[in-house]
Amino acid sequence: MTIMPIIEAPDPSLRRISATVAAVDDGLRRLMDDMLATMYAAPGIGLAAIQVDVPKRVLVIDLQRRAEPVEEGAEPIEVREPRYFVDPEIVWASDEVGAYNEGCLSVPELFGDVIRPLRIRARWLDYDGAAREEEMDGLLATCLQHEMDHLDGILFYDHLSKLKRDMIVKKLTKRQKLAA
Ligand SMILES: [Zn+2]
Repeated sequence: MTIMPIIEAPDPSLRRISATVAAVDDGLRRLMDDMLATMYAAPGIGLAAIQVDVPKRVLVIDLQRRAEPVEEGAEPIEVREPRYFVDPEIVWASDEVGAYNEGCLSVPELFGDVIRPLRIRARWLDYDGAAREEEMDGLLATCLQHEMDHLDGILFYDHLSKLKRDMIVKKLTKRQKLAA
């Protein structure tokens, strides 16, 4: 598996609209494997293909929750539960919304409270190309909506006030100048 370089905002290539995939083949599965490895290495809980310069409607998520160890005093066990979403669609969203302090692998070390529906019902193709539909809430619902935004060229800070957005873009631009 290959760790791929992650594009950082405000790189305009993150604004591209990703294309529908329609069929899951071995090439796409290889991409999803590489994306997952890249996400774990970062580390992060979600990654869209556009963030590794592939404009396809594909994303991976693993909330990597920690389970309590069996033995007292031992380190918590990291539970890996990778999820793969191809051509995801939101078919229903709750009227009830909530704020979550979001971050993004393409927006390093910066965070902002984004308001989104608390529950959604989504439809997608999985790793094997099978059609799936599920209702979700909590961090998974937030994360999926965040990653799906990437497929339409939207970044989490687009949801913030102009003041906060400008502040983040300024910090990102400064960071890139320093890195260059
Ligand atoms: Zn993101």
